[in-house]
Amino acid sequence: MLAFEFDTVPKIHCASGSALLLAQHCRALDISRPLLVTDPGLVSIGLLAPVLAALQREDLPALVFDQVCEDPPESTVLAAFARARDAGVDGVIAVGGGSSMDVAKVVAVLLAGVQSLPELYGLDQVKGGRLPLILVPTTAGTGSEVTPVAVITTGETTKAGVSSALLLPDVAVLDPELTLSLPPAITAMTGVDAMVHAIEAYTSKHKKNPISDNLARQALRLLSGSIRQAVKNGHDRSARANMLLGACLAGQSFANAPVAAVHALAYPLGGHYHIPHGLSNSLVLPSVLEFNAPAAAPLYADLAQVLSQDALSGSEEARAAQLVSGLRTLIEELQLPATLAALNVPYNDLDMLAAEAMQQQRLLTNNPREVTEADALAIYRAAYGEL
Ligand code: NAD
Repeated sequence: MLAFEFDTVPKIHCASGSALLLAQHCRALDISRPLLVTDPGLVSIGLLAPVLAALQREDLPALVFDQVCEDPPESTVLAAFARARDAGVDGVIAVGGGSSMDVAKVVAVLLAGVQSLPELYGLDQVKGGRLPLILVPTTAGTGSEVTPVAVITTGETTKAGVSSALLLPDVAVLDPELTLSLPPAITAMTGVDAMVHAIEAYTSKHKKNPISDNLARQALRLLSGSIRQAVKNGHDRSARANMLLGACLAGQSFANAPVAAVHALAYPLGGHYHIPHGLSNSLVLPSVLEFNAPAAAPLYADLAQVLSQDALSGSEEARAAQLVSGLRTLIEELQLPATLAALNVPYNDLDMLAAEAMQQQRLLTNNPREVTEADALAIYRAAYGEL
């Protein structure tokens, strides 16, 4: 029998309006004074007010830290930690995208008072437990609400991960109402990010298993079936619910079958040019899949069938090619920039980007086809587009 392990969160509460019911989870976790981590954009559009009012009504006043920025730096984590420690909070809630959820995860660990931030980076370095943790995503993308990872910006161009099962929250709350306000461009970028999670988990060379495979296929089905509508009409509740669930399923899948070359080549783009995470993935996605296709044709053929509305015929190779062409068409329809040239990435930087991508060996090792530095450069050149 196939031997594998599958880890995920103990509870997922998925319902329209569930973000207004956080008090019940706080009580179950013995939280009486929560820290609520979020970003200023969400406060300014009024997304937080009803959530805070609902907590207040249940006599659970939250300390709000609303200074999370995109790709959060260590200084943000430390500022949130200092405020929370001084206020004596006894649990952590995040309401926001991957940036807010990742900050909340690390702060919950720091509040256990055992380790300092530099001691947490890497795999399984968290030793001292954490405060109770509830994560409420407002983007349908990263799946951070169900992953054992937090990504923090550590330098000008570098990010580092804290990776430990202790970062899986006690509860993930999926409330599509919170995603209705996502602008079309962020809906598209974060949605493609989630699709990449599903695709790379399905073809991961390590730890892929029947549960992660089923989750990946179902995630891709939900995401590809609803992303156009969610971008076109952000108030379509059914499309938003499918996107949020799809991102969560993709998150559970890649939390167990880790992502690969798309992410390895996307990270340097985010680091150097501050291209949002989902868009960085989208920019290199078709070129990486084209490169991988000879080694992953049967799996790509499966995914092409999931992506397509119609029954596909032809050889495995031909169907695998349809995954790549289908994704190129989707990226075009979503009106996302499709080439590095369109984002003014200097052509002369491509060698440097390829060298940096090679440092992501922990990701490249999961890729269905070995990637050399020369391959990475060729993929960046293909993704560059115009010459
Ligand atoms: P984000 O959290 O950085 O937010 C992006 C922007 O979207 C912000 O300006 C925010 O205000 C806005 N926004 C979020 N929700 C909104 C809503 N409902 N309405 C209107 N505006 C809204 O974006 P993200 O893509 O969710 O997260 C990216 C971060 O997550 C990166 O730092 C990335 O490295 C990290 N990440 C983490 C994991 C993980 O497993 N922990 C996985 C992938 C990526």
